[in-house]
Amino acid sequence: MVRYELPRLPYGYDELEPFFDVETMKIHHQKHHQAYVDGLNKSLESIGGESHPQYISSILSDLKSIPESGRDAINFFGGGYENHRLFWETMTPCGDGSPGGQLEDSIDVYFENFENFKKTFSEKSLSLQGSGWCWLVFNSTFHRIEMITTENQDSPWTLQKYPLLGLDMWEHSYYLKYQNNKSEYVDAWWNIVNWDYVGNRFTELAG
Ligand code: MN
Repeated sequence: MVRYELPRLPYGYDELEPFFDVETMKIHHQKHHQAYVDGLNKSLESIGGESHPQYISSILSDLKSIPESGRDAINFFGGGYENHRLFWETMTPCGDGSPGGQLEDSIDVYFENFENFKKTFSEKSLSLQGSGWCWLVFNSTFHRIEMITTENQDSPWTLQKYPLLGLDMWEHSYYLKYQNNKSEYVDAWWNIVNWDYVGNRFTELAG
Protein backbone atom coordinates (compact mmCIF):
# COMPACT_ATOMS: atom_id res chain seq x y z
CA MET A 1 0.00 0.00 0.00
CA VAL A 2 1.00 3.60 -0.47
CA ARG A 3 2.65 5.09 2.58
CA TYR A 4 2.73 8.83 2.82
CA GLU A 5 5.92 10.54 3.95
CA LEU A 6 6.71 13.97 5.29
CA PRO A 7 7.59 16.07 2.22
CA ARG A 8 10.88 17.96 2.25
CA LEU A 9 10.62 21.72 2.45
CA PRO A 10 11.76 23.52 -0.71
CA TYR A 11 13.89 25.88 1.48
CA GLY A 12 15.67 25.85 4.85
CA TYR A 13 13.78 26.30 8.13
CA ASP A 14 15.40 29.71 8.63
CA GLU A 15 14.92 31.00 5.11
CA LEU A 16 11.47 32.49 5.59
CA GLU A 17 12.81 34.75 8.35
CA PRO A 18 11.92 37.35 9.45
CA PHE A 19 8.36 36.65 8.31
CA PHE A 20 8.07 33.07 9.58
CA ASP A 21 10.53 32.28 12.37
CA VAL A 22 12.75 29.22 12.38
CA GLU A 23 11.30 27.78 15.60
CA THR A 24 7.72 27.86 14.35
CA MET A 25 8.76 26.43 10.98
CA LYS A 26 10.54 23.50 12.62
CA ILE A 27 7.71 22.60 14.97
CA HIS A 28 5.09 23.13 12.28
CA HIS A 29 6.86 20.84 9.80
CA GLN A 30 8.53 18.24 12.01
CA LYS A 31 5.81 17.86 14.63
CA HIS A 32 2.46 19.04 13.27
CA HIS A 33 2.82 18.00 9.65
CA GLN A 34 4.47 14.73 10.71
CA ALA A 35 1.49 14.00 12.95
CA TYR A 36 -0.88 14.36 9.96
CA VAL A 37 1.34 12.04 7.90
CA ASP A 38 1.36 9.42 10.66
CA GLY A 39 -2.38 9.78 11.27
CA LEU A 40 -3.12 9.38 7.57
CA ASN A 41 -1.03 6.21 7.27
CA LYS A 42 -2.65 4.77 10.36
CA SER A 43 -6.18 5.60 9.16
CA LEU A 44 -5.52 4.02 5.78
CA GLU A 45 -4.17 0.90 7.45
CA SER A 46 -7.20 0.65 9.69
CA ILE A 47 -9.54 0.39 6.68
CA GLY A 48 -7.29 -2.13 4.90
CA GLY A 49 -5.50 0.32 2.62
CA GLU A 50 -4.83 -1.82 -0.48
CA SER A 51 -7.73 -0.53 -2.48
CA HIS A 52 -7.40 3.19 -1.98
CA PRO A 53 -6.30 5.31 -4.94
CA GLN A 54 -2.76 6.56 -5.12
CA TYR A 55 -3.28 10.27 -4.84
CA ILE A 56 -4.57 11.89 -1.71
CA SER A 57 -6.41 14.48 -3.81
CA SER A 58 -8.51 11.71 -5.38
CA ILE A 59 -9.24 10.20 -1.97
CA LEU A 60 -10.36 13.57 -0.63
CA SER A 61 -12.42 14.29 -3.74
CA ASP A 62 -14.36 11.05 -3.22
CA LEU A 63 -14.58 10.49 0.52
CA LYS A 64 -17.79 8.51 0.03
CA SER A 65 -15.71 5.71 -1.43
CA ILE A 66 -13.94 5.32 1.94
CA PRO A 67 -15.61 2.98 4.47
CA GLU A 68 -17.58 5.08 6.90
CA SER A 69 -15.55 3.88 9.88
CA GLY A 70 -12.43 5.60 8.50
CA ARG A 71 -13.93 8.59 6.71
CA ASP A 72 -13.63 11.26 9.39
CA ALA A 73 -10.05 10.33 10.21
CA ILE A 74 -9.02 10.34 6.56
CA ASN A 75 -10.75 13.67 6.01
CA PHE A 76 -8.82 15.14 8.94
CA PHE A 77 -5.38 13.58 8.55
CA GLY A 78 -5.48 13.43 4.75
CA GLY A 79 -6.57 17.04 4.61
CA GLY A 80 -3.87 17.98 7.11
CA TYR A 81 -1.26 16.14 5.07
CA GLU A 82 -2.24 17.69 1.74
CA ASN A 83 -3.02 21.21 3.00
CA HIS A 84 0.42 21.48 4.57
CA ARG A 85 2.18 19.96 1.56
CA LEU A 86 0.72 22.73 -0.59
CA PHE A 87 1.32 25.39 2.08
CA TRP A 88 5.09 24.75 1.99
CA GLU A 89 5.21 24.72 -1.81
CA THR A 90 3.39 28.01 -2.11
CA MET A 91 5.98 29.90 -0.06
CA THR A 92 9.46 31.05 -1.05
CA PRO A 93 12.25 33.19 0.40
CA CYS A 94 12.49 35.02 -2.93
CA GLY A 95 8.98 35.98 -3.93
CA ASP A 96 8.45 39.17 -5.90
CA GLY A 97 5.13 39.89 -4.26
CA SER A 98 2.69 39.75 -7.17
CA PRO A 99 1.13 37.06 -9.34
CA GLY A 100 1.48 38.52 -12.84
CA GLY A 101 0.38 36.66 -15.95
CA GLN A 102 -2.94 34.92 -16.43
CA LEU A 103 -3.61 34.60 -12.71
CA GLU A 104 -3.34 38.32 -12.13
CA ASP A 105 -5.67 38.91 -15.08
CA SER A 106 -8.19 36.59 -13.46
CA ILE A 107 -7.75 38.28 -10.07
CA ASP A 108 -8.49 41.61 -11.76
CA VAL A 109 -11.70 40.17 -13.22
CA TYR A 110 -13.07 38.71 -9.98
CA PHE A 111 -11.48 40.93 -7.32
CA GLU A 112 -11.00 44.26 -9.10
CA ASN A 113 -7.23 44.35 -8.61
CA PHE A 114 -4.47 42.63 -6.67
CA GLU A 115 -4.54 45.08 -3.74
CA ASN A 116 -8.23 44.52 -3.29
CA PHE A 117 -7.75 40.77 -3.58
CA LYS A 118 -5.17 40.84 -0.78
CA LYS A 119 -7.41 42.95 1.41
CA THR A 120 -10.39 40.65 0.86
CA PHE A 121 -8.32 37.52 1.44
CA SER A 122 -6.81 38.92 4.64
CA GLU A 123 -10.24 39.87 5.98
CA LYS A 124 -11.63 36.46 5.16
CA SER A 125 -8.69 34.73 6.91
CA LEU A 126 -9.19 36.84 10.01
CA SER A 127 -12.93 36.19 10.06
CA LEU A 128 -12.36 32.47 10.65
CA GLN A 129 -13.44 31.45 14.12
CA GLY A 130 -11.36 28.62 15.48
CA SER A 131 -8.94 26.61 13.38
CA GLY A 132 -9.08 26.45 9.62
CA TRP A 133 -7.70 27.64 6.31
CA CYS A 134 -8.34 30.44 3.86
CA TRP A 135 -8.02 29.51 0.17
CA LEU A 136 -7.80 30.70 -3.36
CA VAL A 137 -9.28 27.84 -5.37
CA PHE A 138 -10.15 27.04 -8.95
CA ASN A 139 -13.74 25.99 -9.56
CA SER A 140 -13.59 23.88 -12.70
CA THR A 141 -17.38 23.71 -13.07
CA PHE A 142 -17.60 27.45 -13.53
CA HIS A 143 -14.04 27.78 -14.77
CA ARG A 144 -13.21 30.56 -12.34
CA ILE A 145 -11.18 31.38 -9.26
CA GLU A 146 -12.91 31.71 -5.89
CA MET A 147 -11.99 32.51 -2.32
CA ILE A 148 -13.23 30.15 0.39
CA THR A 149 -12.49 29.15 3.96
CA THR A 150 -12.56 25.62 5.39
CA GLU A 151 -12.72 24.52 9.01
CA ASN A 152 -10.19 22.34 10.78
CA GLN A 153 -8.23 20.43 8.13
CA ASP A 154 -11.05 20.20 5.60
CA SER A 155 -9.58 20.32 2.13
CA PRO A 156 -11.01 22.17 -0.90
CA TRP A 157 -10.73 18.84 -2.73
CA THR A 158 -13.68 17.55 -0.66
CA LEU A 159 -15.74 20.40 -2.18
CA GLN A 160 -14.56 19.45 -5.69
CA LYS A 161 -12.43 22.59 -5.79
CA TYR A 162 -8.81 22.75 -6.76
CA PRO A 163 -6.63 24.53 -4.17
CA LEU A 164 -4.24 27.09 -5.66
CA LEU A 165 -3.09 28.85 -2.50
CA GLY A 166 -3.94 28.29 1.16
CA LEU A 167 -3.17 30.08 4.38
CA ASP A 168 -3.00 28.06 7.59
CA MET A 169 -5.00 29.86 10.29
CA TRP A 170 -4.36 27.33 13.06
CA GLU A 171 -2.75 28.87 16.13
CA HIS A 172 0.22 26.52 15.79
CA SER A 173 1.25 28.37 12.64
CA TYR A 174 1.67 31.77 14.27
CA TYR A 175 1.39 31.71 18.03
CA LEU A 176 5.09 31.56 18.98
CA LYS A 177 6.01 34.68 17.05
CA TYR A 178 2.78 36.63 16.73
CA GLN A 179 0.78 35.49 19.78
CA ASN A 180 -2.75 36.79 19.27
CA ASN A 181 -1.77 39.26 16.53
CA LYS A 182 -3.21 37.24 13.71
CA SER A 183 -3.27 40.15 11.29
CA GLU A 184 0.51 40.62 11.61
CA TYR A 185 0.92 36.97 10.72
CA VAL A 186 -1.27 37.37 7.64
CA ASP A 187 0.56 40.56 6.59
CA ALA A 188 3.91 38.79 6.96
CA TRP A 189 2.76 35.83 4.87
CA TRP A 190 2.07 38.00 1.80
CA ASN A 191 5.82 38.67 1.60
CA ILE A 192 6.68 35.02 1.08
CA VAL A 193 3.94 33.77 -1.25
CA ASN A 194 5.43 31.90 -4.21
CA TRP A 195 3.38 33.47 -6.98
CA ASP A 196 5.33 31.67 -9.70
CA TYR A 197 4.20 28.36 -8.27
CA VAL A 198 0.61 29.48 -7.73
CA GLY A 199 0.43 31.10 -11.17
CA ASN A 200 1.73 27.95 -12.86
CA ARG A 201 -0.88 25.83 -11.11
CA PHE A 202 -3.55 28.19 -12.36
CA THR A 203 -2.24 28.27 -15.93
CA GLU A 204 -2.15 24.46 -16.08
CA LEU A 205 -5.83 24.35 -15.15
CA ALA A 206 -7.25 27.36 -16.91
CA GLY A 207 -4.84 27.72 -19.81
MN1 MN B 1 -0.58 23.87 10.33
